[in-house]
Order: sequence, then structure tokens, then C-alpha cells
Amino acid sequence: MPGHGVASQRGSADGGTVWSGRALVLNVTYEPISVVGRRRALVLVLAGKADSLHDSDRTARSARLGVPIPSVVRLRYRVSVPFRRRAPLHRRSLFARDGGVCQYCGRPAECIDHIHPRSKGGAHEWENVVACCRSCNLRKADRLLSETGFELRTRPGAPSAFSWVTMSVGRVPEEWRQYLPVDLALSA
Ligand SMILES: [Zn+2]
Repeated sequence: MPGHGVASQRGSADGGTVWSGRALVLNVTYEPISVVGRRRALVLVLAGKADSLHDSDRTARSARLGVPIPSVVRLRYRVSVPFRRRAPLHRRSLFARDGGVCQYCGRPAECIDHIHPRSKGGAHEWENVVACCRSCNLRKADRLLSETGFELRTRPGAPSAFSWVTMSVGRVPEEWRQYLPVDLALSA
């Protein structure tokens, strides 16, 4: 099937283009390896490099036929995935891990708190940072947890190895969940 001549079609139900949304790419082993734009996913399928496992509800029109736009594709060949480092610690990923709430009091978080203060040698790493509201941040200040009455709601750690999937879409589409670790699929 030729890969050219496929045009996007506007005027979908939500007012976006048919290309809005992302597609999950699986290795031949079914391991999730990336999230790409739907156009890229369709090109992989049309080029014979991947098979669509789930189509989205959108269709691209070529001259004569409608082609369903994939939501999940599986590569036909094995891609070696480099050793995955720990997820980089960014404000956005930290807030995502902590659900956007202060890990001391549960109110909406605005700041990042170093549990063991940096001024006292605390590291900037997943295990030592939590999302925090301004009020708790001010009250805890530069003290160790043991010097305050503060208690953590959860024990902080690095997020799941596949958290990049949730990070790249915000809300995980239903049809992706069977390919993701259970905790990630449930929390998403
Ligand atoms: Zn708080």
C-alpha cells in the first residue's frame, strides 16, 4: 500500500484535526517504547514497519480509500531499547508523581520541598523531594523532618519506568492500558 497521498481531514466531532492525539508504539515484544503523533504511527503502518493493534476512531482519506488512524502500533522488528535511566527529576514529573498535592497536608502543591534540606547536605533526588504547599514550605523552612511535627503521607521514590507514557499524554487512552504496568494503568 503506498504511503503517500494520505491527507488529513478536518472537521471531526471535537473540532480538532483527525491527527490530534498520540499513538503508543510497542516493540515486537509488546514492550512500550515510545509515544508518537498519529501521523507518524500511520506512516509506520503504511510503510509495512508496524501493524496497528488498535485503531483510533479517526480515518485518514487518500484518493480512494479511508485508512483508519492507529492508536496503538506494534513494530514488526525488534528495536533495542537503550538502558532506561531513572526518570529525570523535573518539577512537572514530580508534581505528577505526587498527584499535585502537598505531601505534608494534602492541599494543592505549589513548591518543591527537599525533605532533608539542601543547606544541610540533602540531595536533589527523587527520594528527597516532595511536592509541597507554600504554607508547609514556609513552616518547615530549613529544618529536618525530625525537628518539625511534619509527617510525609507517602514514602517518596522514583516513578515507574514507564511513567514517560503518562507524562506524554496526560490521560492514558483506554486501549493503551493493557500494554502498561498495572500500577501505571490504574493511576493514570
Ligand atoms: Zn502543605
